[in-house]
Amino acid sequence: MSGIRPTGFLHLGNYFGAIRNYVKMQEDFDCYFMVADLHSLTTHPDTKQLKANVHRVLAENIACGLDPDKVALYCQSHVYETAELYLYLNMLAYTGELEKTVTFKDKVRQNPDNINAGLLTYPVLMSADILLHRARYVPVGKDQEQHLEFARTYVNRFNHRYGVVFPEPYAFNYNQELVKVPSLDGSGKMSKSENQMATLFLADEDEVIRKKVMKTKTDQGPTILNSPKPDYIENIFGLMKLVSAEEVMAKFETDYDNCTIRYGDMKKQLAEDMVNFIAPIRNKINAILNDEPFLKDVMEKGAVKARISAKATMKLVREAIGLNY
Ligand code: ADP
Repeated sequence: MSGIRPTGFLHLGNYFGAIRNYVKMQEDFDCYFMVADLHSLTTHPDTKQLKANVHRVLAENIACGLDPDKVALYCQSHVYETAELYLYLNMLAYTGELEKTVTFKDKVRQNPDNINAGLLTYPVLMSADILLHRARYVPVGKDQEQHLEFARTYVNRFNHRYGVVFPEPYAFNYNQELVKVPSLDGSGKMSKSENQMATLFLADEDEVIRKKVMKTKTDQGPTILNSPKPDYIENIFGLMKLVSAEEVMAKFETDYDNCTIRYGDMKKQLAEDMVNFIAPIRNKINAILNDEPFLKDVMEKGAVKARISAKATMKLVREAIGLNY
């Protein structure tokens, strides 16, 4: 189970942190993937763009290879049981713990005029999304690790208090380390809402991709053999590792170690490899976005599948709590 907020265009971080695994997992597991529209209300109260953004996230997931016939691909607000489970979990959540969450502190800094209770209880809603399907594996990027710890805490509190209903969920990346795709300016992670020039979007045009990559920070190059890489250079190598061939990567690693590296050439290569990676996805996104009836149908079918699982869980939950009179 996993989800993405409809708060803007999807980017390379969403792809490599999350969607790439969704696409792999659909072959191996029963999967539930959703557009997290309720979550977006905590930080984006203006809903004028919401419908278009929900369609976009759906189209972008499908363009990346997610098959709505293989998984339940749905919209969070269509599965009403989410709100009920969120309510019960709120009684197991302590405000002191929530106030210490890194993402809460970040969001308070970013939205000083709208520190609503939903922002504080974001990890509770996220836990409800996951527990609703009694999911074990949650394909997410590294930024979500702390939220998964909350989900396990609520599982343990619930199971201890009311009897075992939920398995413990874990962040999942096929036993590999969780991914964090850095922003192009090296100032944290790539993100939908932060600096647009430092984020590569799946909808970016070729020229925009080239421009963004060519603008990344470099320096004169190393002067001592086998020296460690500064963070901003490490970032460029990290991005290259995501989209370039192994031989290409190895060549620039060797050039770096020998102090013969030419960053201009490296960035040109990276830009072309990014274009080759992103362009086919972008073209598919645009085709899918034009077919609104298809997107509506995907959401409706997805909600039906998700609610079968959600209803079964909520029956167990109500019985365990003692709300069965
Ligand atoms: P954003 O932070 O861009 O708004 P979301 O919060 O909707 O994205 O996250 C959707 C998924 O994408 C989550 O699983 C999250 O871990 C992953 N993700 C977001 N940004 C990155 C990144 N820069 N690197 C790796 N994974 C990321």
